[in-house]
Amino acid sequence: MLKTVNDFLSSRSFYRNMGKIQMVDLIGQYSKIQAEIDKAIMDVVRSSAYINGPEVKSFQAELENYLGVKHVIPCANGTDALQIAMMALGLKPGDEVITASFTYVATAEVIALLQLKPVLVDVLPDTFLIDPKAVERAITPKTKAIVPVHLFGHCADMDALMDIAKRNNLYVIEDTAQAIGSNYNLKNGTKQKAGTIGTIGCTSFFPSKNLGCYGDGGAIFTNDDELAKKMRMIANHGQSTLYYHDEIGVNSRLDSIQAAILRIKLRHLDEYAAARRAVADYYDKAFAGNNNITTPARTKNSDHVFHQYTLLIKNADRNKVREQLAAKEIPSMIYYPVPLHMQKAYRDDRYKPGDFPVTEQLCAHVLSLPIHTEMKEETLKYITDAVLEILKPEVAAV
Ligand SMILES: *Cc1c(COP(=O)(O)O)cnc(C)c1O
Repeated sequence: MLKTVNDFLSSRSFYRNMGKIQMVDLIGQYSKIQAEIDKAIMDVVRSSAYINGPEVKSFQAELENYLGVKHVIPCANGTDALQIAMMALGLKPGDEVITASFTYVATAEVIALLQLKPVLVDVLPDTFLIDPKAVERAITPKTKAIVPVHLFGHCADMDALMDIAKRNNLYVIEDTAQAIGSNYNLKNGTKQKAGTIGTIGCTSFFPSKNLGCYGDGGAIFTNDDELAKKMRMIANHGQSTLYYHDEIGVNSRLDSIQAAILRIKLRHLDEYAAARRAVADYYDKAFAGNNNITTPARTKNSDHVFHQYTLLIKNADRNKVREQLAAKEIPSMIYYPVPLHMQKAYRDDRYKPGDFPVTEQLCAHVLSLPIHTEMKEETLKYITDAVLEILKPEVAAV
């Protein structure tokens, strides 16, 4: 098998047919909507309405409609979205905010930046998502909010979290930077989009996200009129009327050019999610039954929009696996290698290694494979053959 693949590689027909394998293929995606995108960008350039122009307002309305949420507040990036949300809730220094120890740093960063106290809790071993029971145990009289992260495109257990929040009078800020477009089936029978269930939802339009623009961008969602007004004001220097500043705010705007791009890409979001799911289905099927590989869990209450396709691998040296894949021109990534409580900037007397065993296990054993909207079946076959060759049960050894 290895020989065949090498022969194939050296014949160069491989590259002609398949192209370079990438974690994400933004150019391939762009090339399919190029004429529309180029025109939209040039229309903004020619309009000179670069900031808060009609494109931003139209995108806002279209995203509100898509999500079924009352208010979308566009802003400069996903990190700002989280910060503005926390500022608007009037949280005070020392207030405790509970979030997952297995996440991208932005979630904890804004909590710390606002001098709130990040309280980390472990995640569940199958879904990698915040553990509601651990959340419940972490609540103190100072707890004000829970920030579930819908990691890798799959929603946290919102039924359980909303129930805990209600009983303890807490805000819920959904970090849906990786899960925009995912549907969540609530136990009351209604279906809602990720980010529209909690008090506030926050997302990112970073280029590689499921709905990515061609630069930085983000948005905040809420059904609460008062909060929406306040967040809109905070994102715009705390002003509701030009040069009258009622709050200390920030400068966080979505560019009109990015909004114009996002309007076009929003129309493809569901089809992009379907393409990602098809990739995940292919991987799942190929890896089924290999006991060195655990494929990502799916639950019946949340769609998985597969921002990442992340395996748990056993009985193998992960770095060696990555090197072997790289030798076959297959990129892979580790999201995330270090748990938050062991990051230099976030180390805390409260925590020590071993406190979040699931997170620590995941950081040591996860491996994310290429997944994007433009993957071809031959590429998937090539990748899965290579992974199975490297992780075949009989040769896999530590
Ligand atoms: C990307 C991301 C963010 C931050 O978004 P930016 O637009 O890069 O600021 C926050 N949380 C999670 C989980 C993310 O993946």
